[in-house]
Amino acid sequence: MRGIGFRPPAEPGILTKINGNQPAIGTDRSMTQPSAASRAMIERLIAFDTTSRDSNLALIDFVRDYLSRHGIASEIVPSEDGRKANLFATVGGKGGEAPGVILSGHTDVVPVDGQPWDTEPFTVVERDGLIYGRGTSDMKSFVAVCLALVPDMVKARPRQPIHLAFSYDEEVGCLGVRRLIDVLVKRGLKAQACIVGEPTEMRVVVGHKGKKSWRCTVHGHESHSALTHLGVNAVEAAAETVAKLKSMARHFRDNGPYDETYEPPYTSVHTGVIRGGTQLNIVPLRCEFDFEFRHLPGDDPDALFAEIKEFTERELVPEMRAKQPKTGFEWRELSHIPGLNTSEDDPVVTLGKALTGANATGKVPFGTEAGLFQQVGLPTIVCGPGSIEQAHKPNEFIALDQVAQCEAMLRRLIQRMAAS
Ligand SMILES: [Zn+2]
Repeated sequence: MRGIGFRPPAEPGILTKINGNQPAIGTDRSMTQPSAASRAMIERLIAFDTTSRDSNLALIDFVRDYLSRHGIASEIVPSEDGRKANLFATVGGKGGEAPGVILSGHTDVVPVDGQPWDTEPFTVVERDGLIYGRGTSDMKSFVAVCLALVPDMVKARPRQPIHLAFSYDEEVGCLGVRRLIDVLVKRGLKAQACIVGEPTEMRVVVGHKGKKSWRCTVHGHESHSALTHLGVNAVEAAAETVAKLKSMARHFRDNGPYDETYEPPYTSVHTGVIRGGTQLNIVPLRCEFDFEFRHLPGDDPDALFAEIKEFTERELVPEMRAKQPKTGFEWRELSHIPGLNTSEDDPVVTLGKALTGANATGKVPFGTEAGLFQQVGLPTIVCGPGSIEQAHKPNEFIALDQVAQCEAMLRRLIQRMAAS
């Protein structure tokens, strides 16, 4: 495997800003090998091609059958079109109302299209302490370790329940888990903690930025390009709006507000897609572009959106409408992932530290489902095996040591939930 294009593992923690001292985890050699059960389950889950655009039902069926063999009933919460599903299951907690712990993971993965993989992405390959395959870090290994430990959970008969919450469509805007959370809220599910197992290299993550995105469609008016004075150029109006977004981005970069625990430490603004016009000698009728704000907890994305909308209404629309009354801007929200902002002294953080042996917490730049759980009052942290540096890339991998650390964390959790 070496020498044929594999990148060596990146330095850990480049994208995870940590508060406090680093824990000395991963140095205990006895901890570095995961169980055969975890390895086999990772291999099994990776083999399901659950790219977000496709169904995840084969994987969900497999998990439901597996759980039922261990006497655990699953609740399936399907997507609107029935092509995909969330799965929710509870181990223990019988006869009591003690709030338990939710272990949350998504089952979908990003596409491998056009990526130069050196191995078959849906067949795991283990080399030099690393397991390669799409979704090994993001985030089927966490889901697999949870499942591999189900027999231990069942045997421990935890008085405080352990809930498994597996979602779909996380990679396309955290869509699936919203339906699951709705069901849990209606039922009045209480939990002392929710652990979202996205890859943090087993660090306890208490915060990430929120993200909100929109599509703007500019409606202009066509004319021959020799007669620009008769047309309303949709591409130019879009370009002026994108330039305004860029000036907002510079303003945040240069003036803050700043929170140095994030990378970058300010709210970022970005336009990622633009389409418009048909050919050079036609004044374009239509142009659309997609943009997003990745905001600090203190910045309100709706206020930023209002600012850009107000700019177009003040600076661009009057001139456009003076020529053609049917021109203007149309806005559509694409996605909203709330930020995660868990207090350092929340008991969920104490639990996360106890389970991992860490004495530090961190924040990450990427969005997760954690903000959605927190939004409905569930105390939430992000903590899972693997590194986000490997996520979404060709030759994605996870270190065996990370899998072993995840196993150790969940074993401590099982003990805790069984005790008292
Ligand atoms: Zn993920």
